[in-house]
Amino acid sequence: MTDDIQTDTVESVDDIDGETHAIDWSKAQEGVRLLLEAVGEEPDSAKLQETWQRRVPSAFETLTQGTRIEAKPEMRTFEASGESFVVKEDIPVYSLCEHHLLPFFGTATVAYRPDSEVVGLSKLARYVRWQSRQLTMQEQLTQDIAHGLADEIGASAVMVEISATHLCEAMRGVETKTETSSRAVVGEPTEHERRRFNEATR
Ligand SMILES: [Zn+2]
Repeated sequence: MTDDIQTDTVESVDDIDGETHAIDWSKAQEGVRLLLEAVGEEPDSAKLQETWQRRVPSAFETLTQGTRIEAKPEMRTFEASGESFVVKEDIPVYSLCEHHLLPFFGTATVAYRPDSEVVGLSKLARYVRWQSRQLTMQEQLTQDIAHGLADEIGASAVMVEISATHLCEAMRGVETKTETSSRAVVGEPTEHERRRFNEATR
């Protein structure tokens, strides 16, 4: 994520239903309504009313939290007790492809060399989830998580690998390959650290 997106935060905009929303709610409603019309559906039918009035806008409000700094999980750290390189595998990733607005999902392996502090493993997973909730590309997301974590926890080396299936490819039959891997490295991991990471991502 760029700094622009982080600082250019849209604060709660709309309150048609008495609730405040972090996205432009009426634009989201209108957009979904128009899309339904475009594909020949009847937006005011009983089965679709809630779709554009509430469900899709609400889903996109949640699924774009990664662009809003106020939704970022707090990254409390603990003193590192002898851990020289932390490797966490199988962190779930669910994100949205910015080309097709369709999900890509899979797992992340995150490793870092703590400065003097480590972060709880559940926080690591929550951080990945927060970053993933935006319209992005897999390569970009991998970089954002690596650089974001390096900043958040002051780690001198961070390695991130994401392996994901893209529904825009799988559902449209564009490619037979279902898994795509991308890797990002911040700092200069030692040979030993690289080897440990490679073993974890094998
Ligand atoms: Zn796509």
